[in-house]
Amino acid sequence: MPHPTDPLALGQQLVAIIEGGRRTATYKLAVLMALLDLAVESVPDNPDAAVDVDLDDLTSRVIELYWRQMRPLDGHLLRQSADGRGVIFDAVSDLRAKATTHRTQGLDLVVAHESERYRATHAVVKRTLVRYPLKLLQNLTSGGEQDRFLYDDSWMGTDSQGRVADHGNKLTLFPGVCVTLARLAPLLKPAFQLAWVDDVRRMNKNLLDEGPDLAHHLFGADRVSLQRAGDALTDRFGRACFYCDTMLYRQRHVDHVLPWSRVGIDGLANLVVSCQGCNSSKSDRLPAPAHVKRALNRGRDTLDGLAAEINWPSQYDRVLAAGHGLYSTQPAGTPIWQGRNHITSLGRVDINWFG
Ligand SMILES: [Zn+2]
Repeated sequence: MPHPTDPLALGQQLVAIIEGGRRTATYKLAVLMALLDLAVESVPDNPDAAVDVDLDDLTSRVIELYWRQMRPLDGHLLRQSADGRGVIFDAVSDLRAKATTHRTQGLDLVVAHESERYRATHAVVKRTLVRYPLKLLQNLTSGGEQDRFLYDDSWMGTDSQGRVADHGNKLTLFPGVCVTLARLAPLLKPAFQLAWVDDVRRMNKNLLDEGPDLAHHLFGADRVSLQRAGDALTDRFGRACFYCDTMLYRQRHVDHVLPWSRVGIDGLANLVVSCQGCNSSKSDRLPAPAHVKRALNRGRDTLDGLAAEINWPSQYDRVLAAGHGLYSTQPAGTPIWQGRNHITSLGRVDINWFG
């Protein structure tokens, strides 16, 4: 079976997935988004290597995506399928309804403190993913032999947990696919998000006439809740802007060092406080690797400890992995944010610079 790792060919096939007719549910988009993020965080040293994706990790990412999207918008739970039903949405919204710790906090707290409940949801979602969207994702046409271009799905479509275990509880991205996905992620992620916003708007026509900012609701960073992390960071590391060292008196911003739009990580290891000027000048740009290194050099133990104190995820390892993946797959010359109004281009990055 041909496994194109030519970025253009793979990109075209992925775009074909999102253009392939009207979706009746957003499952495939969720799986694709999760795969993109995991690819960025799993970039191997050898670009031609086949890369395993743990199905439990993939499932957790899909739950994370829906969890955020299922917070009410103007009091409404948005539909994620044409008829408003579906095993995965029902399982996640049921978890939201029954979980007692999430109202002021996030999914990570439910994972930590209501682990049995979370595990049950996770099992249902994983089973459903293997049975349908993971099996159907690469089906670009109706009938006929398909060229699988991401991973071998021949054993999927099953409800059997034994079958999943027999296959190592993982899917394996074909040689070269992981790096190609990571390289394409900055192009594909916004395209998938647009398609997702479009689907949700269509599936919720009756609720969304007034056109609230649906894209922000589904994919934006939650600025309000970040302030709690900002307070903890200020207490521990001081009131100066992380980037320019200006003392912050009133306008304190909480900034994602690796941009939220790129990696979707709001663990403490990826958060700093910054001044208005740096925050708006940096925007969604990739920061100079030195900034990421400094953020991580605050120390894993310190960040993990602080995170535990305020019941916030730390996600140190995810920042480390995503930083490695992002910088090692950027073409030379990519614009890099050094500081306020100071953009340079990325040189060759020593991918061991986190070591
Ligand atoms: Zn600043």
